Amino acid sequence: MYEPGIIKKLDEEVVNRIAAGEIVQRPANALKELIENSLDARSTNIIITVKAGGLKYLQIQDNGTGIRHDNLDIVCERFTTSKLSQYEDLQAISTYGFRGEALASISHIAHLTILTKTASDKCAYKASYENGKLKGPIKPCAGNNGTQITVEDLFYNVLARKRALRSPNEEYTHIMEVVGGYAIHNSHVGFTLKKFGENTDIKTPIKSSVIDNVRIIHGNSIARELLEMEVKDPTLKMSVHGYITNVNYSHKKGAMLLFINHRLVDSPTIRKAVDSVYATYLPKNAHSYVYLSLELDPKNVDVNVHPTKHEVQFLYEEQIIDRIKTAIETKLLSCNSSRVMYTQARLPGATMVDEIVRKTTDGAKVYAKDLVRVDSDTQKIDKFFRVANKQTDRPQTNKTDLTKDYIAVIDDASDRNELDRRKETNRTTNTEANVPMDVDIFEENNEPTNKEITTPRFVFEDEDHLNDIENSVKEPNKTNNINTEPNNKNPIDLIDLESPSKEPNNKNPKDMDYLDSSLVSEPNKNNYPKHNWKSVAVENENISYIDPKESFKTRTFKYERVETKLTSVKQLRYRVENTCSMNLREILANLIFIACIDCNRSLIQHSTKLYLCETSRLTEELFYETILYDFQNLGLIKLSNPLPLEELFVLGLRAQEDEWNPELGDMRELSQQMVELLVSKRAMLLEYFSLEVTSQGELAALPLLVDGHTPFMGALPTYLVRLVTEVNWDSEKECFDTFSRQTAIFYSQPNPDTLEDIVKSEMWKQEHIIFPAIRRNFLPPTSFVSNGAILQIASLADLYKVFERC
Ligand code: ADP
Ligand code: MG
Repeated sequence: MYEPGIIKKLDEEVVNRIAAGEIVQRPANALKELIENSLDARSTNIIITVKAGGLKYLQIQDNGTGIRHDNLDIVCERFTTSKLSQYEDLQAISTYGFRGEALASISHIAHLTILTKTASDKCAYKASYENGKLKGPIKPCAGNNGTQITVEDLFYNVLARKRALRSPNEEYTHIMEVVGGYAIHNSHVGFTLKKFGENTDIKTPIKSSVIDNVRIIHGNSIARELLEMEVKDPTLKMSVHGYITNVNYSHKKGAMLLFINHRLVDSPTIRKAVDSVYATYLPKNAHSYVYLSLELDPKNVDVNVHPTKHEVQFLYEEQIIDRIKTAIETKLLSCNSSRVMYTQARLPGATMVDEIVRKTTDGAKVYAKDLVRVDSDTQKIDKFFRVANKQTDRPQTNKTDLTKDYIAVIDDASDRNELDRRKETNRTTNTEANVPMDVDIFEENNEPTNKEITTPRFVFEDEDHLNDIENSVKEPNKTNNINTEPNNKNPIDLIDLESPSKEPNNKNPKDMDYLDSSLVSEPNKNNYPKHNWKSVAVENENISYIDPKESFKTRTFKYERVETKLTSVKQLRYRVENTCSMNLREILANLIFIACIDCNRSLIQHSTKLYLCETSRLTEELFYETILYDFQNLGLIKLSNPLPLEELFVLGLRAQEDEWNPELGDMRELSQQMVELLVSKRAMLLEYFSLEVTSQGELAALPLLVDGHTPFMGALPTYLVRLVTEVNWDSEKECFDTFSRQTAIFYSQPNPDTLEDIVKSEMWKQEHIIFPAIRRNFLPPTSFVSNGAILQIASLADLYKVFERC
């Protein structure tokens, strides 16, 4: 049998030390109390100096009211305060302190010294304290107006606590959080934080602003994405003022800085509520930065629920949180930079085209199928004859075939009824400045000389001519002028390259460590007869001329960006820039879209020339470049239901091998290994490429390369298999290069379905999404000149010359 224990009153010192331990759990708690005292004393500048995370030394110097000389003897006793005299005062307390416990507590667990001077005192006074009592006499000494409190050897007599706080660095991090938080909230007060004898870590100026202080403390990546928000609700007697990051910003950890009635507090409920709003907009496990200052009727708040006043309780919590959530949501939707696109993912193989839902700037949803062409004035070739449907099934092959196809187009055009109809339309519209040149070209087809003129111009009769053309492109310095002889058997100049050999594109990318190549600088004027192009482009179109070399400098990004520091990515970008053909860039930058012949080929016009483009080749390069240039900044296509990777791999492997070769092992096992590889790379994939793979092996999001474009999901399984097998995961640069390439191939694949609706929608995408993006940013490689990706097929000037002779 155990005897019952004897109850006795605890020593006052023990009581005080227990109480002190509750209030001051770590140096940051003590500092928070001291900062609040300084703010209560109306300081405008606060300087904090720390040694060993505040455990050894913590000093705070302010320029506030100071402490009266005759209060110095009791200031560190428990329950001595200048801020509260009756319990009722608590209901309307507007100061931070009220319990008179902070200084007392600190003096029980540390050596505390106060040096203070009020404005009316002639000199400063210094006093040391132990266990709430003055230790030694109060000494007059020199000092500035304000108070300096020094706390040394914190927890020297609470060894268990001291042992628990082993890492000064961790304590310093907490101190930085507290100082940073108060500096942001009290932007009119200057805060300085430094380690003893070292440079300052935080220094905010007096009369700064919240955003400037966020920039100083957290950096520009957060500050530039901040949206200001404000809520006022007289019924709930609440108001909120704050700054929240827009949806472009996301961080693994995120942060929430919450002040309720100017007191730094933590509210897990508010944190969760805010997170739940952002969850719709940010990638999984990514968070926002949110600073909220919530002001509530003091009568509705109980600040006295937690010893460190770290938590508060307030009335109408649920309604207030709801108001905050709605306000954040509205703000996020109304901000211009919403760039995350949501799509409904079906099983692989199904099309997603019609299900694109974009959150637009005003927050309204616009379905892709409802979008209409904005520029209704611009005539397109398909208005005049139905080129597309007749061409859709044709396989895309070599140049000769392309030419034949093109002849087929011309033949279509010579159809009487169509031509009549077209003439009719043309008559009514040809006064407009922006009627494309193709109208003139085909108009002439109606003449009796039609066949004689067109046939020799578009048919390659033998291999020699092809070679001639290729040579003339490869060695453009020889003779590449437009041939004015109508009967000459070499009538087609693939691309009119005035002086491409002078292009600075033959530099070895390895030599190029800095972007400041001659490409970026002003090229020799003789090399680029842009004045001609400019005048023609401006004359013919009411569109602004885009200078090709500007593309490098002005790749226009809608969003503030994270600039990558990776040399490998920069090198890959230099390679793109060094192999870019400026002439082609000029053509594409100022292109006028004429029509899609089918899903793989399109006609564009530049100046007086007509070009045939292999759309998917252009698109692939465009996407490849987009991935490199938007590296770390790509948007996300969220899948509403994450897709199991293993199943996708099985599908992908099946698609690759009709008959599974058992030597390759078990297909499921292989799929699992493939899943493991992607899961192991998931952090990198998300951060760099916005490809989101969950830890459970599901695909949650794909990168958004060009706004409004989603890849053909039927090709997803093959893409994933190729990611595993074709990407070089071992070397950084190779990995980025091959990953970007495979992704570009996947994204540039059109839906192969020949259903009319699908073909139409593919073409719509190309005209309204892909070609505008090409116009804006695309840097075409020189290889496009010779490999038929872009082929000049008609020149109005030549045609005129032909007709003059007839
Ligand atoms: P409380 O803040 O709850 O009143 P404290 O123990 O924190 O209790 O402070 C006790 C008193 O000491 C305060 O009420 C205030 O009058 C005075 N005091 C403390 N710090 C300062 C300061 N930095 N400047 C001026 N007065 C101070
Ligand atoms: Mg206080």
